[in-house]
Amino acid sequence: MGVRLVILGGPGAGKGTQAMRLTEACGVPHISTGDIFRHHIQAETDIGREIKPLMDAGHLVPDGLTCRVVAERLAEPDCARGFILDGFPRSRAQAECLAQMLADRGEELDLVVNIEVDGEEIVARLAKRWVCPKCGGTYHMESPEEAAAARCERQDCAPGSLTQRDDDRPATVRERLRVYTVTSAPILAYYGEQGLLRSVPGQGMNPDEVFAIIEKFVEEARDARRSAGRTQPVK
Ligand code: AMP
Repeated sequence: MGVRLVILGGPGAGKGTQAMRLTEACGVPHISTGDIFRHHIQAETDIGREIKPLMDAGHLVPDGLTCRVVAERLAEPDCARGFILDGFPRSRAQAECLAQMLADRGEELDLVVNIEVDGEEIVARLAKRWVCPKCGGTYHMESPEEAAAARCERQDCAPGSLTQRDDDRPATVRERLRVYTVTSAPILAYYGEQGLLRSVPGQGMNPDEVFAIIEKFVEEARDARRSAGRTQPVK
């Protein structure tokens, strides 16, 4: 059974990891606006050229452009049974825009999950985050030497192929955190008012334990949907 879910949390909170697991468990696509934007930059599209300086500085991409990119992605057929949105919405305007996009299709969100992690923990965590350039899979490396010897097993890459994201540098991470703290408060309030928000601690537990809690939230949301007589998003 599908689900329409938004996953919130500061940079490095573990959203991507949990979103990938949810995708497998629920059979719906993982939509990361950060990944979509990075693809644009890599492919040197017009959008990529416009947003690169913003992203490099840790600033947000304008709401209008972000909403357009998400609307296009949600219109694709694989989103008919639901989606896991990761990194969107990042402002109240984007949250309202998402609600409107869904309402236009006779749909609504089932659940918003907020992964809570402390700021300094995030700076330390992201300095050790390495990424496979082929699949975007993330790896925790204690040192550059360890990363140089490591490889992405999923893609069967050569050792030394993992890279670090430009915006994972500590100064940029602090700016991203500042932006996240300022912008997330109204979104949390917005979804809290709607009774859609569930929070889970993203530290002090391993990713399996965090996922077990999120899976319970999904079950509860589906039960609530059934008892409210809403049949969506099963199509
Ligand atoms: P992420 O991979 O989610 O950490 O996003 C990386 C960067 O992409 C952010 O720091 C922003 O510059 C941009 N970005 C991703 N999602 C959004 C969004 N919903 N609104 C505005 N900018 C975004």
